This record gives sequence, C-alpha cells and structure tokens, in this order.
Amino acid sequence: MSSRPDAYRPDLASYDLLAPQLSGGKDSAVMMAVFMDAARAAGVEDRVISYHSSLGVLEWPAVDFEGARFPGVSELAALQSAPFDVPADRHIEVARTMPGPNGTLIPRSLLTEIAAYGRFPRMGSPYCRKYAKEGVVSAAWTPLVTRLSRDLGRPVRILKVMGLRSDEGADRRKRPPFRTVLANSARIVDEWLPIKDWSTNAVKAWHASAPVPYAWTYDSVPGARDWRGTSRCSCSLCCFASVPDLLLSIGRRPRLARLYAEVEAVRGDSLRPDRKIADLIRHSEQCAAPAPGVVCADDGPEFTALEEQVRAALSYEPRKEPDLARGRGSRPLCDGCR
Ligand code: SF4
Repeated sequence: MSSRPDAYRPDLASYDLLAPQLSGGKDSAVMMAVFMDAARAAGVEDRVISYHSSLGVLEWPAVDFEGARFPGVSELAALQSAPFDVPADRHIEVARTMPGPNGTLIPRSLLTEIAAYGRFPRMGSPYCRKYAKEGVVSAAWTPLVTRLSRDLGRPVRILKVMGLRSDEGADRRKRPPFRTVLANSARIVDEWLPIKDWSTNAVKAWHASAPVPYAWTYDSVPGARDWRGTSRCSCSLCCFASVPDLLLSIGRRPRLARLYAEVEAVRGDSLRPDRKIADLIRHSEQCAAPAPGVVCADDGPEFTALEEQVRAALSYEPRKEPDLARGRGSRPLCDGCR
C-alpha cells in the first residue's frame, strides 16, 4: 500500500512508553494499524498508551443523519484503539483546561486562546498545534515520567507516534520520519511517522475494508463513502485549510463560522493570510456554496459556553498586536465578491 513501507523503524523495545497520537482522522487509524503490527512484532504492545488531545467544540461533532448516528472525532479516536489491541483503559483523552466555578477545571478552547492572543496561527507560527495538541499530551505524560524516572534512575524514553504524511503538504514533506524532539534529565522523546510515505489514495483504499469507521465529514453526506467532503478532519475550521474545505465547513457549521468571524472583526486579523472567514461566509451566502450535506445545529450548552468564553477573551486587550495581518486577507473569491 505504501510506496516505501517500513522506510524506517525505530527499536521499539528500547522505549518505556509507546505513545501513538490519535487525531480521530483517516490517517491516524492507518498509523495505528501499521504501528501496532510493529509493536506486536517487537513484543512490546503492553507498553502502548494511545492519546487523543480533544479540540472540544471545534472538532467535528457526532451527527444523526437519516436515522443513523455518525460519531464525532473524539469518539472515533477512542474507536481507533481497541481493534488494534489497545484496551479502552489504555486510551487517554486529554484537553487544555482552565479554572471553572467552585475549584473545578473546564475545557479552554483553542478559539479562546486565539481570541486572547490576538492573531490566528500561521505557517511560521503554528502555535495552535502546541497549544491544543502537543503541549497537552506532553503535560499528560508528566506523572508517569516523574514516577518512572525515579524507579529507573534515568530519563524515561518515550516514542511519540503520529500519522503525518508527506502528501499533506510541504511542511509535512520536510519533516523527517524519525527525530528526537526533546531530551532532558527526566525524559527523552522521539517522534516516528510510520506512514509518512503513504499516498492519500492508499489511505482511502485501506479504509475500504478497515475495522474502524472514518469521520463523516470526509463524505459528501454522512455514510456516502465517496470521499467528497472535507479533505481534512480536526478543527472544523482550520487556519491552514483549503478554500473548498473552508466553504464546505462553513456550510456545515454556520454558527461556529460566525464565532470565528467575531474574533476576526474584533482583532483585525484574518483566518488565513489571504482570506477572511467573514468574506468566505459572504461568498457562501451570496455567490456560491457547496451543498453541506448536513448542517450541525451547534445549539447545545457546550457551544454556548464556548461563545461566552471567546467573547470574554475578546473583551480584553490582545496579548499580541494583530498588525502583521492587518490589511491582508482580502483577496476576492469571485467577481460577485468584488
Ligand atoms: S486543525 Fe488546524 S487550526 Fe486546528 S490545531 Fe490543527 S493546524 Fe491548528
């Protein structure tokens, strides 16, 4: 299936913790299958704990469509463990949190952080990945690292396994299939991309007979299995998404799109360097829009809590002045948008 299967395989037995990162997308399911074959071959499947860093309301939610229920992204990430022999109690979902009422912790959304920071993530500064994913998982390892490093008397060796592929873009192509990302007195973290060279077609072909479902958003309508929906699946409205993906996502999550537009309007930055989400919404409403297939209501208490959290962040001065992007993000989408 891959053009260069097993191009590089680290010595899995040399790690104390094997930590696949499950996004819930189509690639992480393939990664899990390939990686667990390698873990079983090395006899170390009992060292595997899978992690999903939840993006909360920003992720694609579960939907009911024509009498069937289609799971959301966090649920899919959990489903990507058990069929590959990682029991449910060894799959951990984590999320960025903030203090809530009465000493509780409540989820703190990436969109709240963007509103508070004042700028959307960019290629040169993709802080969202660290804020919402890498940093959260790394913090979740800390209790284990503290305990194990004391017992072992040496740094804990962790292998982070991810489903990134070269086909996804220039930045992914440049990333080596294996590298050390952190080394200090408590932990050594290596990163392995076992399906880096898999083509998108090979991933889709794998899913034709996969033991796990894939996210409904990849299809034109839930359950169609035609791969004519969004090409990616993580944040529903990703700052690095293509215009066709964003237009479709706006149709599927109009309330969430309007909340992003509020952040743009208050901070003066644009979702992408060349596009404002406000213009994409206007184009969808007045010029042309892809058929959404399904529209998420986004009317539950979690969405209301997100709106309140984001608006509260917008009521303060931004931590970073949004000057860099001011005046940009205004490329017209069509003659009707001029
Ligand atoms: S999906 Fe996009 S916006 Fe969301 S964390 Fe990933 S790169 Fe950032």
